[in-house]
Amino acid sequence: MKFKLPCETLTKQGKRPCRAPGIVCKNGSIRCKVHGGYSSGPKTKEGKAKSANNIIKYNDQRASNKRQINEQDL
Ligand SMILES: [Zn+2]
Repeated sequence: MKFKLPCETLTKQGKRPCRAPGIVCKNGSIRCKVHGGYSSGPKTKEGKAKSANNIIKYNDQRASNKRQINEQDL
């Protein structure tokens, strides 16, 4: 079922809600087209693997960035 409801995402500008018309996602939150409401995620096996790898890569990058900052502080 698809309803037109105001998006719940907090924007980067002033942490205000987005309020653009969106739909209810699988996890119960309301998202507009900008904030991923209309995307159902990767479909194929390769796509799912790629997406998982991207998350791992991102987390590694964040961890290494944090380490660099801590080394500069010392
Ligand atoms: Zn939104």
